[in-house]
Amino acid sequence: MSQSKPEIEPDPPKRFRDFFVLTSGGVAVLALLLVTGAIGLVEWMTAAVVMTAGALAFYVGSAPAAQKIRTAEVLDPPQSKTTEGEDTAIESFIAALPLPALLVSPAGQLSSVNRHARRLFRLDETATSVPAALLRQPDLLAAIERVSADGANERVEFTQHGDAEVWMAHVRPGPESGSVLSVFEDLTAVRRAEKARADFLANASHELRTPLTAIGGFIETMRGPAKDDKDAWDGFLDIMAQQTERMKRLVADLLSLSRIEFSEHRAPSTEIELVDLARATSSGLIPIAEDAGIKLHFDAPDHLIRAIADDDEIAQVIQNLASNAIKYARRGGEVQILVGSAPTMADAATACSRQSVDAKRSLLLQPYAASGAPALWVRVTDDGEGISEEHLPRLGERFYRVDESRGGKIEGTGLGLAIVKHIMARHRGGLAVESLEGHGTAFGVWMPRLKDDASA
Ligand code: ADP
Repeated sequence: MSQSKPEIEPDPPKRFRDFFVLTSGGVAVLALLLVTGAIGLVEWMTAAVVMTAGALAFYVGSAPAAQKIRTAEVLDPPQSKTTEGEDTAIESFIAALPLPALLVSPAGQLSSVNRHARRLFRLDETATSVPAALLRQPDLLAAIERVSADGANERVEFTQHGDAEVWMAHVRPGPESGSVLSVFEDLTAVRRAEKARADFLANASHELRTPLTAIGGFIETMRGPAKDDKDAWDGFLDIMAQQTERMKRLVADLLSLSRIEFSEHRAPSTEIELVDLARATSSGLIPIAEDAGIKLHFDAPDHLIRAIADDDEIAQVIQNLASNAIKYARRGGEVQILVGSAPTMADAATACSRQSVDAKRSLLLQPYAASGAPALWVRVTDDGEGISEEHLPRLGERFYRVDESRGGKIEGTGLGLAIVKHIMARHRGGLAVESLEGHGTAFGVWMPRLKDDASA
C-alpha cells in the first residue's frame, strides 16, 4: 500500500526576512564604525562584502534544514500540547492531593493516578488503561466522556466495594484539551450520619406520637360517647396522666441524649470522687426500689477513687443502670450496685463481668483509653429474667427495647442505655453486658481514674 507523501511547504518569506535582517543589521554596524573613524573605507567595503556573502550562504544553506524540520513535524505531529515540565508538575500535583485523583488523557488512557485512587479502584502500579473498577461505574465513565467532549464540570455519586462506600466524583476538564481530571470525595460517613439522623427523627416522632394519640383518643371519647359517663372518666384520666408522664420521660431522655452528644467530643475536666457519688446516687433510688419491693445493696471499697469526669453524667450512668435493674429485677429480689478500682482498664473489664461460665457476654462499647491505664469500675446486677443472647449486642442502640418483643409490659423509652453508652464514650470508657436467661443481668462500665497509691 502506497503512503502519500506529505506536502512540504517551503518557507521562503521567513528565510528572506532572516537574510534581510542579518545583512542590513551588519551593514549598519559597519557604517557606524566608519563614521566614528574606528575603521577606514577599505575595511568597511571588505567587511560589507564578506558579511553579505555569509548571509547569502546562510540563506541558501538553511533551506534544506527548514524543510527537514517541517517534514518531521508533518510525519510525526506533536502528541501533546503540554510540555514535559508541565506534565511533571501535574503529576506531582495529583500525587500530593490528599484525595483519590486521576487524569485521563484525550485518548482515554490513564495518564496520572495517585496512590489514594489506586487503592480506591484497586489498581496496580503499571495500570495505564481505564481500569475495570471504573468500567463498572457507567455513570462515571459517561461523565468523563462528556467532560472530555464539551469541557463542562460534572459531579457523579457512586458506590464502591459492594455498596459499602459512597463516593462523589468531581469531574473537571484537565490541563490539556480533551483530558479529564477526576477527584473523588468519600461520602460514606456523611451518608451514614444522614441515615442515622433520619432514622432517629422517624423513631423519635413515632415514640412521641404514640402517647399523644392515646391522649387525643381519650379526649374524643370523653367529649363524645362517654360524655355523660362520669364514672369512666377517672380511669381515662389515669391513662392520660400515665401517657403524659411517658411523654415527659421521652422528652427528658431526648434532651439528655442531645446534650451528651453535643459535649461528647469535649473531654471532661473536673475531678470527681466515685465512692461518695455512687453512694449518694444509690441512696436516691431506695424509695423507687422499695416501691417495687426490691432490696438495693450498695458496696464500695473504703478508699477514695478519683477521676477526671463529669459528676452529673457519671451519676446518670449509675442511675440509668440501677433503675433498669430495679425495673427488670424479680419481684422481691435484689439489685446490687458495686464500685471498685483496678490497676488497669483490662483488669477493670474483668472485674465488671460476673464471671459466670454460662452467662452470655457482649461488649457494647470498646474503651478508647489505653488498656494499661489505672481504672475504676461500676457493676450493677439484678436477678431478673435476663436477656436472650440475640438481643445483647443491640443494647445501647437508640430506641432498641427488648421488652417490645416481650409484649411491652414494662414502661421505658429505649434511650437509657444509649445515654450510658454516649457518656462512657466521652469518658473514654467501656460498657459491657452479661446475662443468663432466667437468672439475671449484669451491666458493667469502666473508665480511667487518677493514679492514687491508696487504691492502686
Ligand atoms: P428502657 O427505657 O426501655 O429501659 P434502655 O435503653 O434503658 O431503655 O434499655 C433498653 C432495653 O434493654 C430495655 O427496653 C430492656 O428491654 C433491656 N434491658 C435493659 N436493662 C435490663 C435489665 N437489667 N434486665 C433486662 N432487660 C434490660
